[in-house]
Amino acid sequence: MFNPAKSEPKRRVEQHEKFPAMTKILIIEDEPAIVELVTMYLDKEGFETAAAYGGLEGLVAVKRDQPDLVILDLMLPELDGWEVCRRLRKDTDIPIIMLTARGDDVDKIVGLELGADDYVAKPFNPRELVARVKAVLRRGKGRPQASGTLRLAGLEVDAARREVRVRGERVPLRTREFDLLHTLVMQPGMVFSRDQLLNQVWGYDYLGGTRTVDVHVAQLRQKIKDCGVHIETVWGVGYKLCVDDD
Ligand code: CA
Repeated sequence: MFNPAKSEPKRRVEQHEKFPAMTKILIIEDEPAIVELVTMYLDKEGFETAAAYGGLEGLVAVKRDQPDLVILDLMLPELDGWEVCRRLRKDTDIPIIMLTARGDDVDKIVGLELGADDYVAKPFNPRELVARVKAVLRRGKGRPQASGTLRLAGLEVDAARREVRVRGERVPLRTREFDLLHTLVMQPGMVFSRDQLLNQVWGYDYLGGTRTVDVHVAQLRQKIKDCGVHIETVWGVGYKLCVDDD
């Protein structure tokens, strides 16, 4: 049924697209053969993968592993893909690609009712699935996550725990540095004036000057460098957070 080798042109030149290291994909699917195949293709592209073989196990794995994207089969034991998707959507907007069977009502799946980001109908070519994974991740780049953790390229800002990770590595920040980064990361691309940042981070009654902002930005830049996101100076105005190459 799954026939990855068929009709693949030989000596094809692979276009390797860079996703942040440790981009984690969780596969929720009860058929081991499919899990194995998909895992193999994702591994080859440098993704980190994990698998869950049932709906409940999948929900636990999402909480535990905090994947960047979920591949979710519709037909699962215990809790089916519909219900898993519904529960995930309740408190997260983690990207979800559904594996469906022909004839499934895909409008409901990717529409408002379930809110999956995309779907692939079985039987599928694993390359097609990998392409969808990349497309969905690309689309999601720069979209704040409702789960409380903001992810932007290789940068993760966990507001609840006040933790920041650069490519998966925890980076300790001081209080104001964290608040400043959090303010910027909430609205990527938006230009903040130094006064706005002062008010938002230090408060209206802060008596220090805007130079404080510059000093903190300089420190932040050092701490989050190489995360695929940078703080850009907007001359004469202030700062904005940008994804590299955007
Ligand atoms: Ca299944």
